[in-house]
Order: sequence, then structure tokens, then C-alpha cells
Amino acid sequence: MNNVDVIVIGAGIIGAACADALSERGLRVAVVERDIAGGGATAAGMGHLVVMDDNPAELALSAYSLSLWRDLVGDRPQRHEYSPCGTIWVAADEEEMQAALGKAQTLHGYGLVCEVLTPAALYAREPQLRAGLAGGLLVKGDGLVYPPKTARLLLDRAMRRGATTKRATVTAIEDHGVVLDDGSRHVAQHIVLAAGTRSAALLPELPIEPKKGHLAITDRYPGFVRHQLVELGYIKSAHASSGDSVAFNLQPRPTGQILIGSSRQFDTTDPAVEPPMLQRMLRHASTFTPQLRELNVVRCWTGFRAATPDGLPLIGPSGLRRGLWLATGHEGLGITTSLATAQLLAGQIQKSIPRIPYAPYLPERFHA
Ligand SMILES: Cc1cc2nc3c(=O)[nH]c(=O)nc-3n(C[C@H](O)[C@H](O)[C@H](O)COP(=O)(O)OP(=O)(O)OC[C@H]3O[C@@H](n4cnc5c(N)ncnc54)[C@H](O)[C@@H]3O)c2cc1C
Repeated sequence: MNNVDVIVIGAGIIGAACADALSERGLRVAVVERDIAGGGATAAGMGHLVVMDDNPAELALSAYSLSLWRDLVGDRPQRHEYSPCGTIWVAADEEEMQAALGKAQTLHGYGLVCEVLTPAALYAREPQLRAGLAGGLLVKGDGLVYPPKTARLLLDRAMRRGATTKRATVTAIEDHGVVLDDGSRHVAQHIVLAAGTRSAALLPELPIEPKKGHLAITDRYPGFVRHQLVELGYIKSAHASSGDSVAFNLQPRPTGQILIGSSRQFDTTDPAVEPPMLQRMLRHASTFTPQLRELNVVRCWTGFRAATPDGLPLIGPSGLRRGLWLATGHEGLGITTSLATAQLLAGQIQKSIPRIPYAPYLPERFHA
């Protein structure tokens, strides 16, 4: 922890990606993690790499990051348990089909490859879907990974460039420094806070709220579905800022297992699996794929997303301490946007010209 340029707090996918990007630029990096690397929200999430387009800033960040993901997995996709499965946004009715057409127009306008699906084309690709759906939209560049594995690989790459890791809890952030739970103080020119939902425990001023999610995974049923299937109604659920909601979100893991999501809950920090919420989520999923009821669920768990009021992450300098940078608040999209986050963060530290504008993600947008 001595003689480093940067101390990164947290070794989830965001901290690991930042350590990787900063060490690649020649900076000396130390990472402090209180638990195991990739064991927080990074291990709890679905690992869906998905272009989201609810606003131009979200589209720019997710599309940029997806291009970085494709470069990262390269010709060794199995290292990341990557699958280029694509996403099918399922339209339940004509209103949602109109939303699919609007989404297609936005994505085409951004140079992304997608295909509007008639009902016949939808059922040809995904025969398990219930009858009577209006169609869908296939986004071909989307995929999935096993996020804790990638976090570990990014961290290992940083360590091969000389980065160090320390198992400890940061108890306070000072100007250009941190205090650890053994009372020791460590200084560096730059401190990067990448502690996910726990970022607000260190800086209560941060506008970050935990959003609880449940997931369930089945035994192995290879070929049950082939794409990540998400209902277009998911967008309403994902962007609600209060109340509990569920949405149909089904993922074919490379193991043949089916990962089932998703739920969103505010006003709780209790990690316990809640049977009523789980039941609601599974029932809703089986209204889209009725045969799901016949599959054995082998495991259920919960995780917390670090949500900001506008749904965009905090990437950039924090006025709360000198030398402090934020890379947090990634809500339900932090696996997807991790690699672009790291590039934007490292670019700001090194004052280089970014591929996409920094402005929409700067923490200063929440200054009073
Ligand atoms: C149910 C669910 C489903 C999701 N699905 C997807 C998806 O399909 N696609 C997608 O893109 N995103 C998804 N996400 C979101 C994604 O998982 C997160 O945005 C992402 O993992 C955040 O990474 P992180 O590194 O910021 O946080 P974390 O992974 O939580 O890492 C933070 C790290 O900081 C450490 N830490 C905290 N406090 C301290 C301290 N004081 N000192 C030292 N270390 C500390 C923690 O131990 C932890 O390891 C999902 C999230 C959930 C909960």
C-alpha cells in the first residue's frame, strides 16, 4: 500500500476494471477489498451484457462498454464464460410492439444490429414462449458472462502489471488517503471509491439507495431457450423509483441452466430470500414460458443494486474529499458498463480525450 499512485476501494467488477485500466496506463495501483474479489453484487447479478437505451447517456455508455467487452473476450470467450446469445425483447401486445419498433429505430440510428420479429419469427427462435405474443426485437450484439470470473481475470491482469491487493475494510476516506480497520492510514494521489452499495456507508452524502433483487437458477436443460428473453415491460419495472416489481427475464447459461429474474424492491437491506417475492417472480416468468413450471429450481439468492436517482452511475471527481474519484452507482447495469466506466475514470485521471462525453456521469450533477 506504500508508494502507489491510486488506491481503489472495492474489488467488484468496477474496482477490478478500474485497477486494470489504471495499471495499463502505467499507474501504480493498490486495491483494498474487505471480502473476496467479485463477491458482492458482481457475484449476485445475472451477467447480461445488454444495450439499454432509455436515454442517450445510457445508450452511449452501454454500447461503448459492449464494444470493449467484445474486445476483452476476443477469441477466448470461454475464459469469461461468455455467450453471444443476443437479447430478444418480447412484446406482449401491440403497445409493446410499438415500443419494440421505437427501440429498433434508436438502435439502428446508433449503428447497432437488431431485427424486428413477427410472431412467427419469434416462435421460430423461441418455441417455449406462450402463444398470443405480438412479436419482439432481437438485439444481436448482446451477450452474457460469468461476472466474478471476469472480475478475477481483470484483477489478475492488473497484478501482473504490479498492482497489489489488500484484504481490509476501509473505515474512512480522507483527503488523498484512506483509513483501514486496523487503524493504519494510507496515502495516494488518487483514491477511487468502487464499493458498490456500500459506497454510501463511507460517504453518506452520496445519492445511492440499495435496490434488492431476487434470482433463481434451474438444473440443466440445454436448449430450453437460446437467447436472453426480456419482456418489454421490464423497462417500466427497472426504472420505477419506488414500490416492488417483477419482470420476465430469462437467461440460458452456458452450463444449460436457466437463470430466472427479476425483481426490484426498495426500502429493505435484508438479504433474506422472501418466498412471496420469489413466488411472484417465478409465476410471472411462467406466464411467458409455461413449461418453466416443469423445471427444477436448484438455488435462489438475492443481491443489491446501487441505485442513483437518475439511474446513471457516478463516474468522476468527487468534491467531498481532495483526490477522491467515484466509480459507483451502477444499479442493474454495472456488469455491462464496467469496462467503459473504467476507461472514463482512467481517462479523467489522466486528462485524456474520451470516446464518449464524460459529462452525463459526473457526480457534480447531484451537487445542490
Ligand atoms: C439481482 C441482480 C441482477 C443483476 N443483473 C445484472 C445484469 O444482468 N447485467 C448487468 O450489467 N448488471 C447486473 N446487475 C448489476 C451489477 O451486478 C452491479 O451493477 C455490479 O456488480 C456493481 O459492481 P461493483 O463493483 O460496483 O459492486 P460490488 O460487486 O458490490 O463490489 C463492491 C466491492 O467493494 C467491497 N467493499 C465495500 N465496502 C468496502 C470497504 N469499506 N472496504 C473495502 N472493500 C469494500 C465489497 O466487499 C465488494 O466486493 C445486477 C445486480 C443484481 C443485484
